[in-house]
Amino acid sequence: MAMLDHQQSAQSQKKTLLKTEQASSLSVKIPNYRDGKKVLSMVSKKGQKLDTCASKYKDYICCNVKVLKSVSNCPFDCTYCFLQNYLTDGTTTVVKDIEALMAEVHAKLESQPWRFFRIGTWELGDSLALESKTGQAAELVNSFSSLRNVVLELKTKSDDVESLLTIDHGGKTVVSWSLNTDFIIRTEEHKTASLDRRLSAMKKVADAGYLIGLHFDPMIWHDDWKAGYEDLVTKLFQHVSIDQVAWVSIGSLRFNPEQKRKMENNFPGSSMLNIEMVAGDDNKVRYIKPLRLEMYQFLYSLLQVHGIDETVLYFCMERWDVWETVFGYSPSSIGELDFIFAQSMAKRFPHLQISVPKLAMYELFQES
Ligand code: SF4
Repeated sequence: MAMLDHQQSAQSQKKTLLKTEQASSLSVKIPNYRDGKKVLSMVSKKGQKLDTCASKYKDYICCNVKVLKSVSNCPFDCTYCFLQNYLTDGTTTVVKDIEALMAEVHAKLESQPWRFFRIGTWELGDSLALESKTGQAAELVNSFSSLRNVVLELKTKSDDVESLLTIDHGGKTVVSWSLNTDFIIRTEEHKTASLDRRLSAMKKVADAGYLIGLHFDPMIWHDDWKAGYEDLVTKLFQHVSIDQVAWVSIGSLRFNPEQKRKMENNFPGSSMLNIEMVAGDDNKVRYIKPLRLEMYQFLYSLLQVHGIDETVLYFCMERWDVWETVFGYSPSSIGELDFIFAQSMAKRFPHLQISVPKLAMYELFQES
């Protein structure tokens, strides 16, 4: 089944490519997100594209990452993907107008020159899944290469990195992978690159001097999950050195309650939902806290063996008490976590020439 998925991946991407030209003149919406995956449209920038990550929520310690919504929809088909519950137009779009995107980035940087920004292109899709067809990521890497106080984050489940390997990126791009156990990749992350292909691609970009981001998110419970994550972490550090790891995030499966029905309809063979989940104040359902803590503590212990500590680790969409239980500390505010990112990056990667971070400023502007 998994092998079939990966073979289908190449075929479906070819189909997407064939439709690129005719799609560029499309003006009608594609209501079904899966139909939209087959139609790639290079579009002009319309409206504001630079924003704060939509997951930011007052009761969590959020990392305050900024997002450049330069892609929408994705050729991959993960069971848990929130796009199936979010997109009103499924057309896969990639903004071709890099100058207009960068004008927004420049304006943001100039408005807060004291601040270190992380800007990701993964809010509504995968940063690199279509790169061999669009070349968008390479253009953005070039555009960020000479900027100060900012890094671009490209986050992917693909291995489509060839266009990045010869760019003079100036160290200003972090190429990140969303990582999961081999079992979850094969059974729930349909059409994505296999774990081995992701790790080979990671080694290539690390060898090309890029910083690497690691996202163990969403962690998903399954039989033998401990063995799966142990194998993942062991293989991972055979491909990348901690010296090149910019940050590591951890999170667990979560989604809006109404998405459950869509997942059951879209992925009837999935066993991912056969476990107790509870709704939180943010109207998302998650595993019960004791299970989340067990999974996080287990993964943290694996990462510590390889030298990853809480100075580069953060949780996505978790409360203070989870931080305290797992890491033994918690930032006091969203502003402080943003500051910790700047401080860690400035100290570990002096070539980025990040302005000396001041905690008071990050706290004062944590809403922006
Ligand atoms: S890679 Fe991300 S955007 Fe693409 S289908 Fe999977 S979860 Fe959705």
